[in-house]
Amino acid sequence: MQVLCVPTEECGEIICEICAKQYKLYFERSSREDREQAIAQVLQALAQHHIQDEGIDAHPERPFNVPEWSGRPELSGAALLGGAPLPF
Ligand SMILES: [Zn+2]
Repeated sequence: MQVLCVPTEECGEIICEICAKQYKLYFERSSREDREQAIAQVLQALAQHHIQDEGIDAHPERPFNVPEWSGRPELSGAALLGGAPLPF
């Protein structure tokens, strides 16, 4: 399922294991099992950012979707169904 990751300075729900950047997550679906799977996917995606770009700014500064989505993140199912604060 789709997740929206929004960078935050504090109280993130997920922390990059490599650079400790924090994100709030908004989920398209709300079952616990789905969330656990999605969190694992997000951790993988964050690690992938570091593989692609070794700089300190490996992650996008703007909110982004996992899995990657070509549309605008604020119009994604995860943003709308997950109750993300809009507009960013
Ligand atoms: Zn990182």
